[in-house]
Amino acid sequence: MGNRKPFVAANWKLHGSRSQLERFTTACLKGLSDDVETVLCPSHVHLDFASNLLAEQSLMKLGAQSVSQHKSGAYTGEVSCEMLIEAGCRYVIVGHSERRRLFGETSFIVAEKFAAVRAAGLIPILCLGESGAARQARRTFEVIAEELDIVLEKNGAMAFDNAIIAYEPIWAVGTGKCATPEQAQEVHSFIRGRLAEDTPVIGDKVRIIYGGSLTPANARDLFAQPDVDGGLIGGASLDDQAFLGIVEAAK
Ligand code: PGA
Repeated sequence: MGNRKPFVAANWKLHGSRSQLERFTTACLKGLSDDVETVLCPSHVHLDFASNLLAEQSLMKLGAQSVSQHKSGAYTGEVSCEMLIEAGCRYVIVGHSERRRLFGETSFIVAEKFAAVRAAGLIPILCLGESGAARQARRTFEVIAEELDIVLEKNGAMAFDNAIIAYEPIWAVGTGKCATPEQAQEVHSFIRGRLAEDTPVIGDKVRIIYGGSLTPANARDLFAQPDVDGGLIGGASLDDQAFLGIVEAAK
């Protein structure tokens, strides 16, 4: 990890309730320390409530799972960056593979969302990842480069000065099939190298986290890799002890 501060985020997806959030945050705030930056991303509807639970402490911050690239207008069902800021958010997941696959978010839209998030002063967590078929066809680096380059072209490498990248192979998300430490390291180092080619200081500084079937049992080996700076946790983040176990592995 070098001198990059470990970063671990909980992506609750379409899960959770107010009472679950209360239990989770109470347990986490007892167990967390300042060595690892942590972020909780509940559903949009729960952001305000979670923001109150997380008020007046700095161990766990609040993030959103998605946002509109538009500031306002006739976009039924959407939420803007300004609304997220009002709800107490600091981070936004952008380009999660579920958004790309199930909700038609193209790499171009993802690049626009990344720009909107940065312009609003929020911190994007940009997800990149190849499908199982792409990996089998040895197209992993090509897919990652395509997804990254379109964001780079629109925003420039300096935009990553305050951004997180999450490598989330689609075949590992929610499948119980975690990437091996070697597979993750290879892609993380590729991403870092691509940013460093453009702007060395950014390559060195940007935190690149791994996501996809992380558990307390497999996290330590993943996080021990030199270019893996933490994790984006789905399923395991619904359980406070599992989440805390993963955070512990990031220290
Ligand atoms: P998972 O999800 O940990 O359940 O695989 C990760 C994610 O989608 O961010």
